[in-house]
Amino acid sequence: MDSQKTTRQYMLAIIGLGALCLAIALFTFPPEKLSLQFVFLSLLTIAFGSRISIQIPRFKSHIAVSDTFIFLAILLFGGEAAIILSAVEAFFSSWRFCKKKISVFFNAALLACSTTFVVSVLRVFEIDGSKVIHEEAHTNLAISLSVMALVQFVFNSGLASIYGALKSGKPWWETWKTHYLWTSVTYFVGAIAAGILAELVFVIGFGVIIAAAPIIVFIYLTYRMYLKNVEMSLSQAEQAEQHALILEEQSRALSESEERFRSAFTYAPIGIGIVSPDGKWLKVNKALSEILGYTEEEFLATEFQSMIYEDDLGSTLVKLHELMTGKVPACQLEQRYVNKRGEIVWVSWSVSATSDHKAERPNLIFQIQDITAKKLAEEQLQYKATHDALTGLPNRAYFMARLEQALEKSFDNPAHKVSVLFIDLDRFKIVNDSLGHQIGDELLIGIADRLRECLRPSDMVARLGGDEFTILVEGRYEPREVVRIAERIREKFLSPFNLSGHEIFSSASIGILHASDKYTKPEDVMRDADIAMYQAKRAGKARHETFTQHMRDAVKETLQIETDLRHAIEKQEFDVYYQPIYSFETDKIEGFEALARWEHKTLGMIPPSRFIPLAEEIGVIDALGEQILRRACQEGCLLQQSAPEADSFVLSVNISCKQFAQLKLAENIKQILEETNFSPQNLKLEITESVFLEHTETAIEVLRQLCDIGIEINIDDFGTGYSNLHYLTQFPITTLKIDRSFISPIKENGQNIEIVQTVMMLARSLRMKVIAEGVETEAQYNQLKDLNCEGAQGYFFGKAMKFEEARDYFREKNRPPMPLPPMEEISVVSTLQ
Ligand code: C2E
Ligand code: CA
Ligand code: CA
Repeated sequence: MDSQKTTRQYMLAIIGLGALCLAIALFTFPPEKLSLQFVFLSLLTIAFGSRISIQIPRFKSHIAVSDTFIFLAILLFGGEAAIILSAVEAFFSSWRFCKKKISVFFNAALLACSTTFVVSVLRVFEIDGSKVIHEEAHTNLAISLSVMALVQFVFNSGLASIYGALKSGKPWWETWKTHYLWTSVTYFVGAIAAGILAELVFVIGFGVIIAAAPIIVFIYLTYRMYLKNVEMSLSQAEQAEQHALILEEQSRALSESEERFRSAFTYAPIGIGIVSPDGKWLKVNKALSEILGYTEEEFLATEFQSMIYEDDLGSTLVKLHELMTGKVPACQLEQRYVNKRGEIVWVSWSVSATSDHKAERPNLIFQIQDITAKKLAEEQLQYKATHDALTGLPNRAYFMARLEQALEKSFDNPAHKVSVLFIDLDRFKIVNDSLGHQIGDELLIGIADRLRECLRPSDMVARLGGDEFTILVEGRYEPREVVRIAERIREKFLSPFNLSGHEIFSSASIGILHASDKYTKPEDVMRDADIAMYQAKRAGKARHETFTQHMRDAVKETLQIETDLRHAIEKQEFDVYYQPIYSFETDKIEGFEALARWEHKTLGMIPPSRFIPLAEEIGVIDALGEQILRRACQEGCLLQQSAPEADSFVLSVNISCKQFAQLKLAENIKQILEETNFSPQNLKLEITESVFLEHTETAIEVLRQLCDIGIEINIDDFGTGYSNLHYLTQFPITTLKIDRSFISPIKENGQNIEIVQTVMMLARSLRMKVIAEGVETEAQYNQLKDLNCEGAQGYFFGKAMKFEEARDYFREKNRPPMPLPPMEEISVVSTLQ
């Protein structure tokens, strides 16, 4: 903004100065000098002055003839005339080139000023331009021409470059140097031309100028043509020269790039090979030789196909076909090669065609990178992500993925069948808890090995986690083949596992599911296989069950019961029934066994054989057991009181082996006895032998405490479980209850009594009493009596009954014999009852 302003001010100043110079010149112009000749020269100057300019070849400068005419005016007509002429000429020529008025005036003023300076300098040196040409000697002429040229140049270029510098903002000196210094030539040439013309005018007369005008034009035009030719030939020569240079450069670049390519090819870190359209190796680099182990000669003697791993050849050829037919510009693949040693090498292979358009079938460039290490690492990662670290078996994620694939296959092809075996180890937790995790792990590894041995080659066994395993069977097979696998597993488990010196027997419960076309999700298959397994567990473990729709309903019901059971415990909805216990010794009912009862709102009576194991499973057995015991003790007191004549009274209460997990069991029982005021001497706790198996440490401790309190222990269901006579002798166990399954088969003729006899003998040797359970017939009763059995229980004496019933029953059975009343009274008594 500022520079524009100063430029403008500068221009105005020059315009002012120029106007002053012009005014002075006009004022002092001697009228006698205003001749026709001067007018002619003026017209000539205005007409051609700036139009005719001559370019100096290879220079940017032009020599305008206007300078020549101005110098000529000084020489012929004096300073004033020249000043006026210069201003007029500059005005007209600027008019043609400049758009802005101010520039036109500036240019005119600039020339008026510089010409005034020239004239002034000549005057200072007392040189009269119009006289020097008349002198004989040319020295003054030469001096005055030089002065004219120099001063004109200095002032003109000086003032103009100030303008240029102001406008561009660059330093003045630089502007002058680059844009004006070279113009000095034009001034001197102009001055010399003016000198020659002036001499000619002096010798020949002014006519020479008139004659010179067309000659000047002619010479000028000729010169222009000559210049053009020179330029043309110059530029042609230049072009030719440049062309040669370019060619030279190109060939140098080509050979350089060839060299570079050659060394890049040879030493590239990745394998590169050029293959002919018929599959022959044409050229291979070092890296490729190293990757595949063949020498270059060996390569060149073979075809690339022979090195590709068989399974990958198909996909490779498909890709190559796409490339050769122009469907794709390049292709890439991860594939396997076989190296010279016969090992598999994983490579990343990319191939493109050589860009030789003329060739009908171009060569192929193979780029091969060894990615075996990367592939191995990937495989290892993949293996870790899909396999169980302990057993090395596929894990859940892998199994589920395989199952999904199998289901998809069978969806597409119904002949492709899918079955799953869901395997859960029985009592694995006991091994883990009693022998430690180390042995537990060893057992799992051993089991994984045995499971593998049971499979057909196409089957897959996986570890889902913990002690759960699954087997996937797929393809064409008969359902019984799957059952056969389950049977083989059972057989395999018959022999013990030898784990760090421990001999351990294990068994498994197996659920089998044959996936019908209704199964689309692997989760559904697993859910139902799990249900079948659960069923196998409930049915007594160490077996297999095949899934049925009914099982799923049962599971649903179990879930419902489970929820309701928790509520029932909270609300104390349980009832206790009492089953009489008969004594052969006294021929009397000596007491009762308390049996839990639960009436469900919608499902009716649910047997304890169903809800007791469920309560154990969901961890509410302690609360339930306590409720039953408290109730039994309360009612036991009342039962006892109902028959004060009775010699003795026994109340048997069942305790689940799961309750022995709590160390405070004895203490709790003691508290209940105190609360209910029931004597420990009248209480018998029924436990099964599994107590010794499952909670060995705490069970021994609790049994000892119970013994201290004075409570007797009965072994329930004797003969059905795992018997350890050693334990039986250690504790105050007074009675063995022979399980119903040994009593029921006893026939009238004494058949099937042997086991009972054996148990009786055993009990005698241990000094224990025996109570027979499930006595239903008189024959059974008689035979047990003959064997001197101490007690019996069963429908023969009475079923489990409600408290009130039991109270009446007990009172009735212990009623002291009364003298017979008269007949009428009997009928009264019986109606009262
Ligand atoms: P258990 O202790 O062996 O009880 C005897 C079972 O046999 C009772 O079945 C009883 O009704 C039944 N029974 C008795 N005599 C005969 C007979 O002559 N013939 C037949 N067919 N059955 C007879 P219940 O009451 O269904 O109890 C089943 C099992 O539930 C019991 O077997 C016991 O192990 C468990 N249980 C019952 N109440 C409780 C309890 O309060 N706590 C615990 N922990 N378990 C209980
Ligand atoms: Ca019992
Ligand atoms: Ca029993």
